[in-house]
Amino acid sequence: MQTTARAVVIGGGVVGCSVLYHLAKFGWTDSVLLERDELTSGSTWHAAGGMHTINGDPNVAKLQKYTIDLYKEIEELSGQPTGLHLTGGVMLAATEARFDWLKNTVAKGRYLGIDAKIITPERAHELMPLLDPSCFVGALETVVDGHLDPSGTTQAYAKAARKLGANIERFTKVEELIQNPDGTWRVITNRGEIHAEHVVNAGGLWAREVGHMVGREHPVLAMEHMYLITEDMPEVAEINRTTGKEVLHAIDFDGELYLRQERGGMLMGTYEKACKAWSEHSTPWTFGHELLQPDIDRIAPSLEVGFKHFPAFQNAGIKKIVNGPFTFAPDGNPLIGPVRGLQGYWCACGVMAGFSQGGGVGLALANWMIHGDPGMDVWAMDVARFGDWASKAYTNAKVKENYARRFSIRFPNEELPAGRPLKTSPLYDRLKARGAQFGAAAGLEVPLWYAPEGVRDEFSWYRSTDFDTVAAEVAAVRTQVGLIETTGFAKYTVSGPGARAWLDGLLASKIPAPGRMTLAPMLKHDGRLIGDFTLADLGAEGFLIIGSGLAEDYHMRWFQQHLPSDGSVSIVAHGAGLAGLAIAGPRAREVLAAVTTADLSTAKFRFMDIKRIPVGMASALVGRVSYTGDIGYEIWCEPAYLVHIFDALMAAGEPHGIRLFGSRALNSLRLEKAYGSWAREYRPIYGPLEAGLDRFVAYDKPADFVGKQAARREKETGGRLRLRCFVVDVTDADVIGDEPIWHGEKVVGWVTSGGYAHASKLSVAMGYVSCELADEAEGWTIEILGVRRTARLQPKPLFDADAKRLMG
Ligand SMILES: Cc1cc2nc3c(=O)[nH]c(=O)nc-3n(C[C@H](O)[C@H](O)[C@H](O)COP(=O)(O)OP(=O)(O)OC[C@H]3O[C@@H](n4cnc5c(N)ncnc54)[C@H](O)[C@@H]3O)c2cc1C
Repeated sequence: MQTTARAVVIGGGVVGCSVLYHLAKFGWTDSVLLERDELTSGSTWHAAGGMHTINGDPNVAKLQKYTIDLYKEIEELSGQPTGLHLTGGVMLAATEARFDWLKNTVAKGRYLGIDAKIITPERAHELMPLLDPSCFVGALETVVDGHLDPSGTTQAYAKAARKLGANIERFTKVEELIQNPDGTWRVITNRGEIHAEHVVNAGGLWAREVGHMVGREHPVLAMEHMYLITEDMPEVAEINRTTGKEVLHAIDFDGELYLRQERGGMLMGTYEKACKAWSEHSTPWTFGHELLQPDIDRIAPSLEVGFKHFPAFQNAGIKKIVNGPFTFAPDGNPLIGPVRGLQGYWCACGVMAGFSQGGGVGLALANWMIHGDPGMDVWAMDVARFGDWASKAYTNAKVKENYARRFSIRFPNEELPAGRPLKTSPLYDRLKARGAQFGAAAGLEVPLWYAPEGVRDEFSWYRSTDFDTVAAEVAAVRTQVGLIETTGFAKYTVSGPGARAWLDGLLASKIPAPGRMTLAPMLKHDGRLIGDFTLADLGAEGFLIIGSGLAEDYHMRWFQQHLPSDGSVSIVAHGAGLAGLAIAGPRAREVLAAVTTADLSTAKFRFMDIKRIPVGMASALVGRVSYTGDIGYEIWCEPAYLVHIFDALMAAGEPHGIRLFGSRALNSLRLEKAYGSWAREYRPIYGPLEAGLDRFVAYDKPADFVGKQAARREKETGGRLRLRCFVVDVTDADVIGDEPIWHGEKVVGWVTSGGYAHASKLSVAMGYVSCELADEAEGWTIEILGVRRTARLQPKPLFDADAKRLMG
């Protein structure tokens, strides 16, 4: 066995083989895959082999399309058939809400060129005669949908990788991973040791165990999953005879079922509600090409629906039931990318749909390893979306919830209950007593809105039960004063003698003077965004960076990767260890003035000033800035002082009509200022000019900051896209995100976020459109729930366009 390799891929399932193939294809032919048994000895061999492009997240859909398009390439290169059957498919809706979801899904796919259309139940029946059209209200027809042979496909990746020069060692179990002081790895196996620059955890069912070898608990859990195969069915033979084709794939969301032809019969699988985890604590190394005991009682309720929706099954004999385990992350998306704090260690695990996603995962990971960037938007799959808070117990609770809801609708205002509350701030009980309805963000409970007695969220695609209350919260901010808890924001302290110079080279903005703040975009080497922060110079206390709470691990990974090795800079992520409150609105200054001795006059406490001042009996860092776009203050303190400061502000605010507001009101407020947010408007595929953040980029500062040359090029060439704000003509449903933006009869962009701007009483959408059209006043429509709505370009913020209120 070889003793050195550029990269060692651990695991010979479909995912590991795809990673190896892509590494070899892009030039890292000195890579080796280690498999403890035969290839496909995890969940891969007993998969149903189904695949499709459609996914609720367009970026994941894009990777799924790539995966399916790849099969021809690996077949040709390897000479190994993948058993690809591109039958096409129908996705069925038995309820109006599900039908709305399908309409949304078709719309989202338009910009990506995903071939799907909405059809009637009758048309679905023509395409897939086994279904009873009276059970459905509508359907989606897709072209790129089908199934393949799981083992053949894995072998095709493996043979193609070998042809390109990569190596595969079977019956080679990785037993230990030891990192050398220089960051390289000793990969200890039962057959000897390999010295490698990079290791990839593609351990599938054993991903947790491989994670333990590097001291990490990856948030994955295997679930049992069953499908049945029928005896030959005369109805299937009849369809094959009359159409000359195989029976189409079908997904019946309300039955929680998927179906496809298997030889002369049918295969029907289900994501049952009464689901069962497998090996919750550790996966036995002795498990191999085995199946689990079927439990028909568990899937009986879904089968009953299936037999009703597809009546021919009632007469079919069941030939076989397959029960096998496969892994999921808490949100059902893969876990890919570099792991924070572990140089050269990469994840490619938690891939629950290896045959739809494996190719895309391999592509993104190989790009990332070789070029330092996945080359596409993989936010939804990035391992960094889960921090240390995603413990094993949390993961196990969430994965079970996700499995049972695999085919359920998640409405935009729906918060899922499993694994909560996990992290709470000291204000949790107080806010709850005042009606706070919480959502979980990176494990922390954050108030979304404050519901009146007896009112709760009614889950919907449309404006819902929170509408009037959120309107009142917004009105309080715009006319008096509102208070929001901001502990969920990410906060980092940068300190050390090298801090200023380091930040100057890492952030694209100017570095503020002591006591001042600035907005600070952070760029990748290709000049695209990897962060947008508020940066404050606190003098002797170092620098404070404030950013998106969802991206704390993501950004810490980047910060740590770029820290100088001489120890001159240190960075700490505070999480909920630094608590926050914000007050905003025309009376905010009076409220704060009532609890501090500091001079808050504009001359002494300017917009973007930050100071440590007394607040009540406590001391807090107070910055004059507000994401609401109104005059306001952000207040940061140790959690132990949070309740005191909260009580003091609420008491002082009472005569001014202070009202609590949550993140939904904040969203409404920031929209009418056209403020973007991370993971929505700002993502690693947009340049600062495209995102409208160029005014914060110090293109000419002396420091050679990361991405400077590329950002300058973007400035010169103008980029491809522009972020724009639209007012949409709707009465009952606002945009959620990812809707297509049309100009004339062409889709020219997509929505990043939006909602109802209550103070302006207008529905707002933000999104990217092509540069050439970006300033066209007329001709815009945005497709919401299958209907194209007239939209008007909104060139200036709807509120306080001249920033008089903000600065006053
Ligand atoms: C019943 C069932 C039906 C399914 N149907 C579908 C479907 O229709 N479509 C679809 O896309 N997906 C389906 N799946 C899911 C699919 O099987 C998985 O997405 C896919 O197999 C994941 O592949 P993987 O390579 O990540 O993991 P695995 O297949 O588990 O592979 C991991 C490999 O790593 C090896 N390994 C682990 N640790 C070590 C070590 N320390 N040293 C060396 N080797 C190691 C293991 O031996 C194993 O071969 C189904 C799964 C099941 C169970």
